[in-house]
Amino acid sequence: MNGKVRTRIAPSPTGFAHMGNARTALFNYLFAKKEGGEFILRIEDTDKERSKKEYEQDILDNFRWLGLKWDEGIEKGGPYEPYRQSERTELYKKYLTKLLEEGRAYWCFCTAEELEAQRAHQISLGEAPRYKGICRNLSRQEQEKRLAAGERGVIRFILEPKGIAFQDLIRGEIKFDTTLLGDAVIAKDLETPLYNFTVVVDDFEMQITHVIRGEEHIANTPRQILIQQALALPGVQYAHLPLLLGEDRTKLSKRHGDNSIRKFREQGYLPEAVVNFLALLGWNPGDEREIFSMEQLIKEFSLERIQKGGAIFNLQRLDWINGLYIRQMPLEELTEICKPYLPEHPMDLEKKKKIVALYQERLKKLSEIAELADFFFKDALEYPRELLYWKEATTEQTKEMLGKIHELIGGVGESDWTKENLEKILMPEAEKLQNRGYMLWPLRVALSGKKASPGPFEIAEILGKEQTLQRIKQAITISKV
Ligand code: GLU
Repeated sequence: MNGKVRTRIAPSPTGFAHMGNARTALFNYLFAKKEGGEFILRIEDTDKERSKKEYEQDILDNFRWLGLKWDEGIEKGGPYEPYRQSERTELYKKYLTKLLEEGRAYWCFCTAEELEAQRAHQISLGEAPRYKGICRNLSRQEQEKRLAAGERGVIRFILEPKGIAFQDLIRGEIKFDTTLLGDAVIAKDLETPLYNFTVVVDDFEMQITHVIRGEEHIANTPRQILIQQALALPGVQYAHLPLLLGEDRTKLSKRHGDNSIRKFREQGYLPEAVVNFLALLGWNPGDEREIFSMEQLIKEFSLERIQKGGAIFNLQRLDWINGLYIRQMPLEELTEICKPYLPEHPMDLEKKKKIVALYQERLKKLSEIAELADFFFKDALEYPRELLYWKEATTEQTKEMLGKIHELIGGVGESDWTKENLEKILMPEAEKLQNRGYMLWPLRVALSGKKASPGPFEIAEILGKEQTLQRIKQAITISKV
């Protein structure tokens, strides 16, 4: 080993990449970069039925979107190619054969029924159900003979009953008693190895130094260490990240809603905000700061500052962070990324920028602009007549007011059609009323069709003279009845 830190993210492409994958990938990336090391992306597709290319693509796309740049791995290549487990069968076969030849693993021919009976018996005795090692006593010749006769078996690894301990970089010493574990199935056959085995082989072959992964993998660790030892491979350092919890403090799962990265991306969360948010799920800088760029995170990150207890996935916090990043964004750029959420419309870019500017301060995610600003893009608005009435104003008064507004601004020239000018003309009239709502409210509703919107002058400027007057006329017709 050359002493360089090498971490990896090793997702199984059995579903769309979710926020848990992203957090684990991010922490591996940050640690590797902080230490001047390398970050590797390996695809663990040993589960042939559940692994799909579509999911693999989703993982790659979304990790890239988040700015997680792997130094080696799928699509990028590297010295330990291939980085997809389904393409590494020959290598695993070599290690499996070694274990079989050395008597550290054996073929097991127990049927599903036999295993079930054994399990039921153990449970009835109040014992922890585990494989008793019945086939362990078959000689090599016997095993070969049964295989040659076409019997199907699986490969089990002999788990020595012993105490095992490892130093977790986050949790300190973790101890296990393997007497409670049965011999583990490590392959369905020589061509079909399983996770606990392939992970050990690959972490060694790819020279991984640190395995940083979710807490749910702690239970797999003793098996993996025993397999390492049986193959006389050097150990790796482990760091198990705290569980992600929902707001109800139970393990984050589908029950809490769609947690896929693409879902958050679709809703208009910015990658910088998601990274910032994920970094704080279990890690903290040791002070009150909450806003970090990727570069800052790389500088500040350390495994010592990762907590043991679960980290709550707090959507309000994500919204707050995202809103902050939206507010900091140059308008030009924000308009560009808001475009997919706005209707296709021949409106010029300057106008679109003005619309986006109206909402920049309040957006928590980009998708919100679709509903907030839809009225700018419609030919005709639909809203209940009563919405036009300010407080107890009558139909007649409202109609009159709208007529008056139309008269007051109908003469303003196209080139003078600015919010400042419109305000200068209408506000003095509005101030004369018992409440300016009698004028501003019906005007705002006439232009937006909404209960809540930005102010009427800003809207009128963006709509332009023709459309503004047309909407006021439409409101007069609606309020007539
Ligand atoms: N393929 C495993 C998973 O997606 C990786 C676990 C590990 O990091 O060892 O959970």
